[in-house]
Amino acid sequence: MEKVLADIHKAFSADSSGAVARYIPELATADPSLFGLAVTTMDGLHYQAGDSHVPFTIQSVSKPFVYALALRDRGTENVLARVGVEPTGDAFNAITLEPASGRPLNPMVNAGAILTSSLVRGADPGERFDRILAGLSAFAGRQLTVNERVFASERDTGDRNRAIGFLMRGAGALHGPVDEICDVYFRQCAVEVTAADLAVMAGTLARGGINPRTGERVLDEDHVNHVLTVMATCGMYDRAGTWLFRVGLPAKSGVAGGVCAVLPGQLGIGVFSPPLDEAGNSYRGVRACEMLASRFALHLLAPQ
Ligand code: GLU
Repeated sequence: MEKVLADIHKAFSADSSGAVARYIPELATADPSLFGLAVTTMDGLHYQAGDSHVPFTIQSVSKPFVYALALRDRGTENVLARVGVEPTGDAFNAITLEPASGRPLNPMVNAGAILTSSLVRGADPGERFDRILAGLSAFAGRQLTVNERVFASERDTGDRNRAIGFLMRGAGALHGPVDEICDVYFRQCAVEVTAADLAVMAGTLARGGINPRTGERVLDEDHVNHVLTVMATCGMYDRAGTWLFRVGLPAKSGVAGGVCAVLPGQLGIGVFSPPLDEAGNSYRGVRACEMLASRFALHLLAPQ
């Protein structure tokens, strides 16, 4: 495995295709040459190559894990009543809601993620965020922290997300003060992780909710299925279909260049490289996962 990761790193490290995200000013300062890969197996073994310990903000990769925390706190039916599970084919920041109910279409687009974040329990926004951070840290198996500069940068430029929040509140789908709810969501997106962390987080889903490094049960098995389902259908922006076709694993990417992918019962994969392709997925991240999936025949729907 270590050798394959080194080969993949070598194959793509000189490819400078793609562009770092610019719409959150602080993300535009990322070094485009960074590229790290990590894999965690079910017995907690860890393999890596390149910049696998360089921190970056989790951004949208937080969405499936916070969806997991909402399922844990509120139960499946209560969460389903508030956020759908239909892929949109739209961009992540699309302002689209279900016409009749005002319900966001799924928890992986920003509308659904903002609403999902508001469903995590907490007496006030501060406590809700503390529980989100504790939950993400339990998935990663170490205490994570927030990049305050990225948080401030996103909050200062986050009008589109606030607009989505007001639209949902106007439709009766989102309850509570939009600014506070969006601030918790922005802070959740600014939590710092490494590719190694993402591999452990994905590995926790692969192991049915038990962290393979710490042995802690973070999530019930029933909820793991639900999280993996939305990752498989909606996790890779509007390239979820192409991704499933080529890689065949539930996955989630984020605008800072993170990708995590799950092979249930076997491994968690984490990749980081800031330049994004035209769909907003890490350019090297997608290619690295395609190569890894093909080298080890990981596609879940391939004949066994
Ligand atoms: N914080 C980002 C936003 O809501 C996350 C986007 C992403 O990673 O797709 O705009």
